[in-house]
Amino acid sequence: MPAETHLFLCRSDNYGVLLHDAASGATAAIDAPEAAPIEAALKATGWKLTDILVTHHHADHTDGIKALKEKYKCRVVAPAAEASKIPAVDETVREGDKVKVGTLSGNVIETPGHTLGHIAYWFHGDKLAFVGDTLFSIGCGRVIEGTPEQMWRSLTKLRDLPNDTEIYCGHEYTAANIKFARTVEPNNKALAAREAQAKQQISRNEATIPVMIGEEKQANPFLRADVPEVAAGIGMAGKPAAEVFAEIRARKNKF
Ligand code: ZN
Ligand code: FE
Repeated sequence: MPAETHLFLCRSDNYGVLLHDAASGATAAIDAPEAAPIEAALKATGWKLTDILVTHHHADHTDGIKALKEKYKCRVVAPAAEASKIPAVDETVREGDKVKVGTLSGNVIETPGHTLGHIAYWFHGDKLAFVGDTLFSIGCGRVIEGTPEQMWRSLTKLRDLPNDTEIYCGHEYTAANIKFARTVEPNNKALAAREAQAKQQISRNEATIPVMIGEEKQANPFLRADVPEVAAGIGMAGKPAAEVFAEIRARKNKF
């Protein structure tokens, strides 16, 4: 049976998402920004929480864990490298580890940069990837603990996923990201199309995610630091991709 997902907003701009396996009844929350909206989502779907898959230790992704664990006795899976900063962890995972949610099978991809231990969960059979604060639609996370080189490498790992992989990210930042991206690539047609699409989604009060990685990599400047025209466009023709990425990220921080 195919995986089912349920997406909802938490806090001010965080996304919560439930991943459900109808065959077994298992349901995972990807991160736990806060307990109440996750409980409301469980009520709305009728699904029972069995697992929490944590992408990284920041409070806006972990604050809900304790209350949910107490109520549902669910398993908490977290990145090994930052498990000590995350409450109630049952299982730690690293690059290449498999994570089961009922009969669904995910792979752990280490994506350091935003935090040093940040991971993504890729459910290849269901063409879904949960990427936390590494990749956003038309943006990427701030490089808080790692280096720009690390973050660039992490983003290329996500870019290398099959084109038809649906990306679920941790925040609704798309409109602001597009505004900035237009300053980097004013003539990118895929970006212009994404802007039109996002405007429509927002005007209808819809989420702008998930996004297909195949489309995202045509329009997101943070996935395009090794495209010669992007480097040339910011006056860095011929420079290494990691340096071009670092400059784009620095400009976004000041934008
Ligand atoms: Zn974060
Ligand atoms: Fe976050």
